[in-house]
Amino acid sequence: MKITEIFEMKKLSLSFEVFPPKSSDSFESVKSATEEIAKLRPSFMSVTYGAGGGTSEYTLDIVKNIKERYGVPTLAHLTCVSSTKETVAKKIEEMKSAGIENVMALRGDLTPELEKSDRSTWAYRHAIDLIHDIKASGADFCIGAACYPEIHPESSDQKEDIKYLKEKVDAGCSFLTTQMFFDNNLLYNFLYKIREAGITVPVIPGVMPITNAKQVDRAIKLSGSFMPQRFKSLVDKFGHSPDAMKQAGIAYATDQIIDLYANGIVNVHVYSMNKPDVAAKIQSNLSNILGTK
Ligand code: FAD
Repeated sequence: MKITEIFEMKKLSLSFEVFPPKSSDSFESVKSATEEIAKLRPSFMSVTYGAGGGTSEYTLDIVKNIKERYGVPTLAHLTCVSSTKETVAKKIEEMKSAGIENVMALRGDLTPELEKSDRSTWAYRHAIDLIHDIKASGADFCIGAACYPEIHPESSDQKEDIKYLKEKVDAGCSFLTTQMFFDNNLLYNFLYKIREAGITVPVIPGVMPITNAKQVDRAIKLSGSFMPQRFKSLVDKFGHSPDAMKQAGIAYATDQIIDLYANGIVNVHVYSMNKPDVAAKIQSNLSNILGTK
């Protein structure tokens, strides 16, 4: 199923993100965690691709397993920043042969080494270059791209960020998924601005349940997201107690999701980080709203 068809159903839903194993040693444990999440029957599951500009051998294996064994629609991520044209062409062919329907086209993060390297030699500088190549391959993928309610950290201002976002959509993206955010008003404000700029494709808000205090610094560093005082107070109060912090973090994410549904969002993407218990708890908190009881 293509991600865009999920929006046509107009039914409130949750999707979950998982990441592939870094090496064969953890393949079985990661596969099993992703299977537990697939058993929750989310609207779709996305599987990330490498990190820090790296590639990933296992993204497609995890995607195929979820799709074939559990019938859950999947979204395979693909990054391009440190790749050659040949590597990307090979990956696109592999996705085509595996019957992948949805691809998330990303640039990938810049590692310190990439930051120092000569950009004029790069085959891909931005996600849009990848979108052009995916389109040119002739495959009938439903293509998604990333967007940033609080501006991408490399952008000088939101106007510029939205201008490039529109170029990605015009190049062939059918939906956008947001970076994590902890204040829904930032998302509503962003949606207003992108609609005004003529970006009309569905936007899937990405919500990250913060379930331990250590995750807070990491999440802010990675995303640059604003932490509302309400969230900071919760970490101050419960951060020292793992069980209490987990409960409070899940409740905060649940609250965010309910507010998003109440304001017209149809599908929320949960950055579930290979944690089936967290995904299951959020889903059960929403069982009457989602009709999953
Ligand atoms: P781009 O769209 O290329 O944007 C990057 C910056 O360049 C922005 O500042 C943008 O405004 C600017 N820009 C865009 N186009 C142009 C242009 N034509 N000319 C000049 N400037 C331009 N990383 C991974 O490694 N693996 C993953 O699986 C992964 N999944 C993600 C999923 C989501 C939903 C999100 C939000 C991020 C994900 N990331 C992942 C992180 C992502 O790779 C980084 O945020 C990266 O820094 C930017 O990727 P992008 O695709 O948004 O890049």
